Amino acid sequence: GSSGGGLRLRDDFPGVGDWHYLDSAATAQKPQAVIDAIARAYGPDYATVHRGVYERSANMTLAYEAARRKVAGFIGAACDAEIVYVRGATEGINLVAQCWAAEQLKAGDRILLSMLEHHSNIVPWQMAAEKTGAQIDVVPLTMDGKIDLDAMQAMIRPEHRLVALAHVSNVLGSVLDVRRAADIAHAVGAKILIDGCQAVPRLAVDVRALDCDFYVFSAHKLYGPTGIGILWARRELLDAMPPYQGGGSMIDKVTFEKTTYAPAPTRFEAGTPHIVGVVGLSAAIDYVQAVGLEAIHAHECALVGRARAALETMNSVRAFGPDDSAGILSFEVEGVHPHDVGTILDETGVAIRAGHHCAQPLMRHLGVEATARASFGLYSDESDVDALVRGIERVRKIFG
Ligand code: PMP
Repeated sequence: GSSGGGLRLRDDFPGVGDWHYLDSAATAQKPQAVIDAIARAYGPDYATVHRGVYERSANMTLAYEAARRKVAGFIGAACDAEIVYVRGATEGINLVAQCWAAEQLKAGDRILLSMLEHHSNIVPWQMAAEKTGAQIDVVPLTMDGKIDLDAMQAMIRPEHRLVALAHVSNVLGSVLDVRRAADIAHAVGAKILIDGCQAVPRLAVDVRALDCDFYVFSAHKLYGPTGIGILWARRELLDAMPPYQGGGSMIDKVTFEKTTYAPAPTRFEAGTPHIVGVVGLSAAIDYVQAVGLEAIHAHECALVGRARAALETMNSVRAFGPDDSAGILSFEVEGVHPHDVGTILDETGVAIRAGHHCAQPLMRHLGVEATARASFGLYSDESDVDALVRGIERVRKIFG
């Protein structure tokens, strides 16, 4: 169709087939190339990193560190040392909350979040605030569901030491003008962390052009494996931060009297890392870069546009979020609980998410307990949108 998006990559994904998988914002399906890379890494290539004196371990170490270089290039980091391997976005935010915020903040300091944040970009800051006596403030949203940067500009003060915002909302798909948010934060001397979970799979990200201070994302939403993610931070920030966890690999020298720590990023990577996860992430980045993020973004925008247009013609259906939402569309069928919408859609082979999406403050703001959410990936196509629309019509008939 004319408004369907151009990518035809479904066959690369054995987990998709003729299933209408519209829950990619929760976790993305994996291309065969990633599955193959993981199988090789657990098979003929398998060995530990950084310690082995034998060739296979040396090769795995090269792959592990080459992946760090690849990630750095993928998001525009100044150097590999700025890339910390973590379990996912959640761990990346907790690391910054514990090793930066809990160290740096004091009573009277303030943290600025927004109304649409995922719980993983709220709770770690509350924990740091509780330890330090810092306070949290919340930037409101515009009418169409974007973080209101005019309001942010008006409310920010020198007491704000840290701003933490989602690049793309996991509920509304709203895209943040990160550069402007960073400028507003830096004008009062605050640092800014960007939760890039939903942005990295669908927008080209350049952390230096965005001028943020911390950036986190999870590999599993980028068509890679679970259990691995990235914390990027400016080198001078990482260098000044204490370790996150103690253990093997993160040390310089250990005696019972005193231990000194390895420089960043090694200092933050205690224990045997998720070696195979890193190899899988590397293959996922190769895959995504070969397709091209601009093509992916255009493709998903076309699909969301097609879905939004269809939903708008149904008078008992309300779509949330801005018209230019990226890859994600929350909606409500009047008088029908989102879980019932999800269950009926499942019967027709359409998988969506129904619930609060780990964003309870946003649900309260929208005046709903939950939403139904369709989210797209580079393998989605018009058949998925059309099945979604047919499924919603069925919901309306059943509850009509
Ligand atoms: N932030 C956002 C915007 C997300 O969508 C998610 C995943 N739902 C997270 C953070 C947390 O990511 P993870 O569970 O992979 O740590």
